[in-house]
Amino acid sequence: MCGSLLGESCSRVYNPLYNWTIPLTPIPKPPVKPTRPQPKSGSPKLKVLHLSDTHIDPMYAEGGDAVCGEPLCCRNASSEISVQNRAGFWGDYRDCDIPLRTLEQTLKFIENTHQDIDYVIWTGDIPPHDVWNQSRDGQISLIRLVAKTIHKYLGNIPIYPVLGNHESAPINRGAYYAVVVKPGLKLISLNMNYCNNQNWWLLLNATDPAGQLQWLIRELQASELTGEKVHIIGHIPPGSNDCLQIWSKNYNRVVNRFETTITGQFFGHTHQDEFELFYETIAAPRAGVYIRPTNVAYIGPSMSTFGNVNPGYRIYTIDGDYENSTFQVMDFETYYLNLTEANTNRDSKPLEYQLSYTAREAYGLQDLSPDNWHKFVLRMKNDNQLFQKFYKYFFNRSDNIGADNVCTVMDNTGINEKVEQKWRDILVNGKMDRGISPNVDPDTPPVWFDRNKFIKSQKLAHYNYGSLLFGQFMGLLLVLYHSDGLAPLIVTGNSSNVQKLFRRYLSTMIHVKYWYQFDPFDKHSKAYKSLKHVRGLHRQVSTSMNEKGDRVEGRDQLWIPQYGMVHAQFSFIGLVAMYPEKCGLHSLPAEDFDSLLYFWRVIGYCLGTDDRYNLCSGSSEEVVKLCHLIWTRDWYPVVNTVPLDCPGGEEMAKGICLAMNRVSKFIRWNVLMTYWTPILKLTRPMRLQSFGDYFWYYVIKCSMSFATKIPFFRYLMSTSARLNLSIAIRFKNYKYNNLKEEYTDLSYDNKSCPFDVKFNYTDVFETINDKESTKL
Ligand SMILES: [Zn+2]
Ligand SMILES: [Zn+2]
Repeated sequence: MCGSLLGESCSRVYNPLYNWTIPLTPIPKPPVKPTRPQPKSGSPKLKVLHLSDTHIDPMYAEGGDAVCGEPLCCRNASSEISVQNRAGFWGDYRDCDIPLRTLEQTLKFIENTHQDIDYVIWTGDIPPHDVWNQSRDGQISLIRLVAKTIHKYLGNIPIYPVLGNHESAPINRGAYYAVVVKPGLKLISLNMNYCNNQNWWLLLNATDPAGQLQWLIRELQASELTGEKVHIIGHIPPGSNDCLQIWSKNYNRVVNRFETTITGQFFGHTHQDEFELFYETIAAPRAGVYIRPTNVAYIGPSMSTFGNVNPGYRIYTIDGDYENSTFQVMDFETYYLNLTEANTNRDSKPLEYQLSYTAREAYGLQDLSPDNWHKFVLRMKNDNQLFQKFYKYFFNRSDNIGADNVCTVMDNTGINEKVEQKWRDILVNGKMDRGISPNVDPDTPPVWFDRNKFIKSQKLAHYNYGSLLFGQFMGLLLVLYHSDGLAPLIVTGNSSNVQKLFRRYLSTMIHVKYWYQFDPFDKHSKAYKSLKHVRGLHRQVSTSMNEKGDRVEGRDQLWIPQYGMVHAQFSFIGLVAMYPEKCGLHSLPAEDFDSLLYFWRVIGYCLGTDDRYNLCSGSSEEVVKLCHLIWTRDWYPVVNTVPLDCPGGEEMAKGICLAMNRVSKFIRWNVLMTYWTPILKLTRPMRLQSFGDYFWYYVIKCSMSFATKIPFFRYLMSTSARLNLSIAIRFKNYKYNNLKEEYTDLSYDNKSCPFDVKFNYTDVFETINDKESTKL
């Protein structure tokens, strides 16, 4: 309940009653054109004025207390007010709304300055923020007053209003409508109070309140059929913390379905100059990951100063109105009132707004397509100057953005933000970039390659081999819980029974051992041959899968893309990076830890990972943070949510344990899961089932917690791991046949696998042909 009232900042809503999905139209989505239709230059344009969040305070008093300690200030006070706390004439940056005169003079300015306005969208919030003493009569008379004022100045222009969250009494309840503005353009006004999480009526039944979304779908479908375009206006932006998450999620689906019909969305409420991007959702294999920008919503600046902003308004240039207009937003201008200056010159000058910026010019956008806005966001990531520009406009050039808000700017250059951005890049772009990056030349070390550092990292790996293997093995089991991780294994057809799994994972262990031992850039070394072989396998699997990829419905990403490479890296080093001590790496010097991560950066590169996505590019702190992000956002939900997204994966993980038990006795599914469950905060109960389970569990527990604190024991553990591996290699055929006899009834063929690729999987024994591999 907390989450549904206070938004995501409090907690996420888990109540399944609030989890609903509105059925979309049965008519299939028309194909989306790769480039959006561009109007001819010189074709007519519409000018649309956007007014929002006027919040007129009839009790506003110049000289009133601007720091009154209540939610709304700048009203008459009984005591003496110090000079710096006195409210300005036109308004005040502190917790104050604006006097009626500011609205009147603004409208007068607009009337005189912009004589070409075709219509007005007015996105709500008329009354002041004094929610504690609003009455029905008071609200109505104020709404009448403001409407009359607007009518006085803009009377002969059509005005399309929406309901804000402050209009109704009691607050947060309220109507929606659709109207044809021009032939071929429909305007839909939504009542966003139906998604408002402060609307307590919704707690009773939040499933598509008032049937508004269902109605929206019908309206959009009707427009789609006739080729009409639609603009949506509303108050609270969907997707914001004030809008119920489930409502936003459904709205997002509607926007994606009708992305071609909806050519404009306009909201208010935040009092800031913002925009929202909509991304297409992947229906399978894992929902909730977005990849293609489909639509954009503009959030216009407020007239009220509430929230440290300058009063503002905006004018959009829309393609139209002529035959076959696209009704796209071509550009917009945002205007601001310099409040400080206006208050200083209150007697000498009439209220005067200035142009703050023109979107395309200020942000260097070719056009205002969702794709360009998306690229703009990515550009801001690397261009602090551009970000600062955006941030200045965000507060409408306010002189007083407040200390808290300055911190927000600082955070942007901070490590958390940096890692978040990298993660977003991996999610969004990393899914569309091929697994073997064209930026990687496996024959040439990258510019950042430092041979001495690498050799040192190999020595460290040799010394800590046991610990690394321990973390890595668990990582490789967990990757199977992802359908993205599992599918390529199934495709290769060499994981269908326990003995095959034995061969495959033994092969993997040998590969990794070569990487820890030999020079990856020396063409004659085993490491080079091994990496080349693995790249070849990846290429072969991804090519054949991507050719058949369209057979997975709703999937709009590559198989084994860069994103998958990051996951693969995570499975090798992620757990070790996050929990080194749980893998027995006690009091590892920072430099050595850094070195281990560096090793995996190099291997990531050699396998084809672009440095931009490479899990281990960046400082140790960044790598560990990124690992935590990947674990909590992408792995944990898949591993810990019942029913499992991919139950076949868990079965296979159990099979791998049966197989690899022939290499090391401690490898038992129950034992490993029992050990890792509290560390990874998994909630499914795990139980040790036999004497053997208990025995090996305590062996692991004692080794990792205590014994490994003695460096010599760590070395001993590594040596015994290597010994086990060479024994397994020597007796691989015997063990293979033995497993075959013992587990005749276990098979891991996934019948639902959408691929029928005939794949020629080769393991290390067949390709890297040298006798030494058996004599390790
Ligand atoms: Zn507001
Ligand atoms: Zn509002």
